[in-house]
Amino acid sequence: RWSFYMRNALYRNIPIYIGLGGLLISFIVCFVYYSIQPTFYNYFWISVIVFSTVISVFCGLWIKNIIYYAYKDPLTDLFNRRYLYEKLESELKRLNRSKTALSLVIIDIDHFKRVNDKYGHLAGDKLLTRISEVFKANSREIDTIARWGGEEFAIILPDTDSQGALKYAERLRKAIEKSEKCFGVTVCIGVATTDKPIAIDILFAEADKALFQAKSVRNKVVGANFPLCEI
Ligand code: GH3
Ligand code: MG
Ligand code: MG
Repeated sequence: RWSFYMRNALYRNIPIYIGLGGLLISFIVCFVYYSIQPTFYNYFWISVIVFSTVISVFCGLWIKNIIYYAYKDPLTDLFNRRYLYEKLESELKRLNRSKTALSLVIIDIDHFKRVNDKYGHLAGDKLLTRISEVFKANSREIDTIARWGGEEFAIILPDTDSQGALKYAERLRKAIEKSEKCFGVTVCIGVATTDKPIAIDILFAEADKALFQAKSVRNKVVGANFPLCEI
């Protein structure tokens, strides 16, 4: 799956690798052709090599863009729902082998509609971007931050038990509450943790239940009472 490459150097350097591949292949083709039929149109060979290398680099950029469009949310530059599910699936499978827990955090902005209605949809969009920045600033490199729906976000915390996840969620909640850039909004957060490779839907349902409980109060973090977790 392409999503697995999105966070390593292979993805970042796709145009370079494909460009080098194009250079190598065109070089070999020219070399073979030249050894069969030695001609001395040097400029021709050089332009063939340069042309195919440039075309390869553009193909690399194109492929990189396609992967980006497939897995990222254009507004917030966070991962999208598709990436979230693929990643969660692989992280849950990994739980079988490792003796750690995995936490899922889902976040819903309180009264987001009011921001749209009061300041306009552009301001609403800006708020989504700014909140995403708060998430990024407070998370580790290995966490997966995704936009799950309109004003709902989900974060996968690998190697994190329920206590750690609750602490993290509380930190996010406070950071958004205190942020001067976030239009004074607050968020509700639901947290679910598991140490077994259960179905994605079950984990989401538990986190969603916790979020629903938080919604009755607002500006609150609630942890799911998850029976499948021993850590
Ligand atoms: P609650 O506190 O119960 O969560 O209320 P809420 O207003 O946050 O939630 P509700 O589900 O009533 O409204 C969500 C709104 O989010 C409705 C929709 O117009 C808006 N929305 C969804 N996606 C976007 C987006 O990309 N940009 C903007 N500006 N608004 C969006
Ligand atoms: Mg919502
Ligand atoms: Mg909301």
